[in-house]
Amino acid sequence: MHYSIWSILQQGFRGGRGWVRAWRAPVPQKSYDMIIVGGGGHGLATAYYLASQYGITNIAVLEKGWIGGGNVGRNTTIIRSNYLLPGNEGFYELSLKLWEGLEQDINFNAMVSQRGILNLFHSDNERDAAARRGNSMILHGADAELLDAAALRKLCPFLNFDNARFPLKGALLQKRGGTVRHDAVAWGYARGADRLGVDIIQNCEVTDFIIKNGCCNGVETTKGKILANKVGVAVAGSSGRVMAKAGLRLPIESHVLQAFVSEGLKPILPQVITYGAGHFYISQSDKGGLVFGGDIDGYNSYAQRGNLPVVEHVTEGGMALMPMIGKARLLRMWGGLMDMSMDGSPFIDRTPITGLYFNGGWCYGGFKATPASGWCFAHLLATDEAHAVARAYRLDRFKTGAVIDEKGAGAQANLH
Ligand SMILES: Cc1cc2nc3c(=O)[nH]c(=O)nc-3n(C[C@H](O)[C@H](O)[C@H](O)COP(=O)(O)OP(=O)(O)OC[C@H]3O[C@@H](n4cnc5c(N)ncnc54)[C@H](O)[C@@H]3O)c2cc1C
Repeated sequence: MHYSIWSILQQGFRGGRGWVRAWRAPVPQKSYDMIIVGGGGHGLATAYYLASQYGITNIAVLEKGWIGGGNVGRNTTIIRSNYLLPGNEGFYELSLKLWEGLEQDINFNAMVSQRGILNLFHSDNERDAAARRGNSMILHGADAELLDAAALRKLCPFLNFDNARFPLKGALLQKRGGTVRHDAVAWGYARGADRLGVDIIQNCEVTDFIIKNGCCNGVETTKGKILANKVGVAVAGSSGRVMAKAGLRLPIESHVLQAFVSEGLKPILPQVITYGAGHFYISQSDKGGLVFGGDIDGYNSYAQRGNLPVVEHVTEGGMALMPMIGKARLLRMWGGLMDMSMDGSPFIDRTPITGLYFNGGWCYGGFKATPASGWCFAHLLATDEAHAVARAYRLDRFKTGAVIDEKGAGAQANLH
């Protein structure tokens, strides 16, 4: 079924009784050409692009829970490509370009909203760093604009300009950045992949890998053994636990990240805003809720819930930046599992086991990466060659020293 204004009208006249399931619920086959472990945004995008770009459709996506139950449905929905380092910027710019055409491509309304993202700066040094980052973005074909305090005030008069602990000196603006409705991305890719013949199997946990003579031939699951020529793992926050089943230890720690949503308010925030002196980012959803977040909970955990000290820390950041937020009531909050790599950058690479491929280490920036991550992981799985914009995302980069330390925080996962 093709979604369009005509299908909505047609279904309207039929009382909505003609809608069909967005994807099938197939029984797993005994074997496939490829298996993707993890039905989050990255796993589903990988399956979709394998089918649409390489014609490989004999694929199963194995998801331990339900589609949209992981981080793809838990994040604060920000997309952007405002990175500094060559290893990253080309990749994230490809992702932003794919977001721009995604809804037509997958025939699904993902509410891609390029409302702009502002990274605030509060000192002369921070302004210089923002200018450098903006220049790097422009050199990679992205858009960037440096705003002074007056221009920022015009855009966001509600920020604390007059009595701030850290004075507002301006912002780096990326107009093409913005937000996307997160769970619609999961549903859209799932439907798109299913339409091309991919089997999406929910409630199917991978419990082990079948490895013989250094070669991975399939997986053991809660629904039985499934064989495949190639297995790609994209399980985000569960990366360490899942890859340990193949005997691999990753340069990744798992931490909790929390998100918060206020009651619905009239439109007040036109852009996404990120604070440069604390860790706080905020946007307003189309339903009116202020959606915001900050630091990870600084301890290792596989729990999808966080603790109160971070709630206080995040709301303090909000109050310092825009005191009016103190009048809004918090509606809900939740936690998700972050796969924090040691330099803050991800991996899309082969493993030392033939036929086993890995995608992870997205830290808390993996939602914006979803399309490019799927695109590049599909390229790797189909061709056995790294995609040109993902060549730096190697698992051995800590051995070779070719780290991509975007934040300059060193090997401290809790600081990225
Ligand atoms: C609170 C919060 C806010 C965030 N905000 C942003 C943001 O604003 N912008 C941004 O770019 N990023 C953000 N992120 C990060 C982003 O959500 C993640 O990096 C990204 O979603 C991870 O990729 P994924 O969608 O594939 O993960 P997931 O949706 O977590 O997918 C992984 C899947 O693997 C499954 N799985 C695990 N183990 C197994 C197994 N053994 N067998 C089968 N399946 C398994 C899980 O059930 C899960 O569904 C945020 C994350 C959180 C939690």
